[in-house]
Amino acid sequence: MPFGYTGKILHVDLTNQVLTIENPPEAFYRTYLGGGAMGLYYILKGMKPGTDALSPDNILTFMCSVVTGVPVSGQSRICVNAKSPTSGAIGDSQAGGFFPAEVKFAGFDGIVITGKAEKPVYLWLHNGEAELRDATYLWGKSTRTVDAMLKEELGDPKVQIAQVGPAAEKGVLFSSIVNMVNRNNGRTGMGTVMASKNLKAVAVRGTAKVITADPKKITELARQGAKDVKNNPDVDGLANHGTASVVGYQNDMGTFPTRNYTEGQFEGAEMLKGETMTATILKRDDTCFSCAVRCKRVVEAEKDGYKVEPIFGGPEYETLGTFGSYCGIDDMVAVSYANQICNDYGVDTISCGATIAFAMECYEKGIISQKETGGIDLKFGNTKAMLEVLDQIVNRSTPFGMLLSLGSARVAAQWGPEAEKCLITVKNQEAPAHMPQVKKSLALVYAVNAFGADHQSSEHDWMYEEGAAELYLERLALMGLTNPPPAGDFGAEKVRFSTLSHIFYSLLDTLTVCQFVWGPAWTLFGPVETVDLVKASTGWDVTLDELLQAGERRLNMMRVFNNREGFSRKDDKLPAKFFEPLKGVGPSEGVAVDKELLEKAIDQHYASMKWSNEGIPSREKLEELQLGWLA
Ligand code: SF4
Repeated sequence: MPFGYTGKILHVDLTNQVLTIENPPEAFYRTYLGGGAMGLYYILKGMKPGTDALSPDNILTFMCSVVTGVPVSGQSRICVNAKSPTSGAIGDSQAGGFFPAEVKFAGFDGIVITGKAEKPVYLWLHNGEAELRDATYLWGKSTRTVDAMLKEELGDPKVQIAQVGPAAEKGVLFSSIVNMVNRNNGRTGMGTVMASKNLKAVAVRGTAKVITADPKKITELARQGAKDVKNNPDVDGLANHGTASVVGYQNDMGTFPTRNYTEGQFEGAEMLKGETMTATILKRDDTCFSCAVRCKRVVEAEKDGYKVEPIFGGPEYETLGTFGSYCGIDDMVAVSYANQICNDYGVDTISCGATIAFAMECYEKGIISQKETGGIDLKFGNTKAMLEVLDQIVNRSTPFGMLLSLGSARVAAQWGPEAEKCLITVKNQEAPAHMPQVKKSLALVYAVNAFGADHQSSEHDWMYEEGAAELYLERLALMGLTNPPPAGDFGAEKVRFSTLSHIFYSLLDTLTVCQFVWGPAWTLFGPVETVDLVKASTGWDVTLDELLQAGERRLNMMRVFNNREGFSRKDDKLPAKFFEPLKGVGPSEGVAVDKELLEKAIDQHYASMKWSNEGIPSREKLEELQLGWLA
């Protein structure tokens, strides 16, 4: 038995209903570690370029890593990859909860899914066994209902279930894969791909433990982490008020996207703060397997005829942004209800809320009228309208809802050039609630990231600026970042930070660890402990350099996938809106991304990555990363 991993990858051929177990050698695990790198390995080997994302030939991978299931904070996450139906580029999405660790306890490190079942099925993994079962009776049912029905059928309330909801079945392009009814592989439409394969759910249960090389060290890390939650103000904020704890600060700094990213400060932010949630509708906190931070929120409320139920958890910061400030809505209960609908139907709250905000701006500007909205007065701040449109999207019940369910970029292509000016998408993915106009390094990462605008693919500017906290700078120095630039700078040193932290975050998504617990700067654990974790779990004598190389490997594999699909520098671009000065009030009024500086940053990033000026990895770089087979 290897340390840290089970040594088993399950291959599921849905077309022929054949399941096989592969036992890759140790060298495979040490090279790819897990997550996106492992998923991309199978996708690049098995999928032809130009494959339709919703055809049976798309390959869908669920990957844990060599540290998933180890009893320490922030390791229970799973990465899902496939070609994305929203962008046509690689899709990539992470989720936490108890499902990821349970996959390991059930005896598997990952699952590679190909083909399409003739009728709906679910996959049942239990103690090293795997089988496909009929799911016809579950098709069309909400995530809450399916979670309860499957637990009853399998006779065990501890079964963990990752599933698609009715939205994915109906073809909402930004559908998610939901586990625990409230954790999502939300981004890039991975739920839509899963539903296109007639795979309703993956249910897992196992009683095995992950065997580690140095259990004493793991216990030490776990104890240190539990103790340090209170000593780290950023992490303590998450523990006390969840990710919503940053609403106030983001708003004060002018980076709380308001009215579809037109302004950076929202007059109704007070009502969306984590502190407000705690004081009004919070029922309790929640966690992922073995995590001492407990950042998840569970809320309960009733208002205006709708009921917010605890089973759906509570809104994250991003959701409070997209359904709140993006839409000009300051109603915490309404946003929580929108979050509940997204979880019950299975859609990404970021793309969904942002698409509604985009439509609101088009309506306010007269680009569309009540003729298109079907009589809805879709003004910013109209809570009832937001919830009505959300219902139409997840059910695809009206022409307007059907159109919006394709995401804002496809909608804009129909509504014309004026609508395109309202877009906040990169590679068709709606931007999250961290503004690249203010956090300059995000301008680069949003542009070059393989799967579009993403806030969890690099460290944010405030960690590496003059006057930043000692802890951040001490940790970043381990990667050679010792010369923090002034606040707001977007010069060469900021770009270096952006590239290096992009690589570090790619490592985190390769190890499938939580980026609130593990990271290069502000988190509970830093780079030193990240190395310790991999060593203690696997027994390998790894160094930080070796691990960073694994992060770089994942970035290059995603880049090669995109190149094969025709993506290059021309696609590493930001929407026109980000170059327009921000309106409204606050410190970000008049601030914009500088186009010339962004192009320079892209040049520098490509050069550091050893990619061509067109963004194509060089043979030399691929060979250096043991990816010669892709050159
Ligand atoms: S910090 Fe929050 S999201 Fe991350 S593992 Fe812990 S409970 Fe889960």
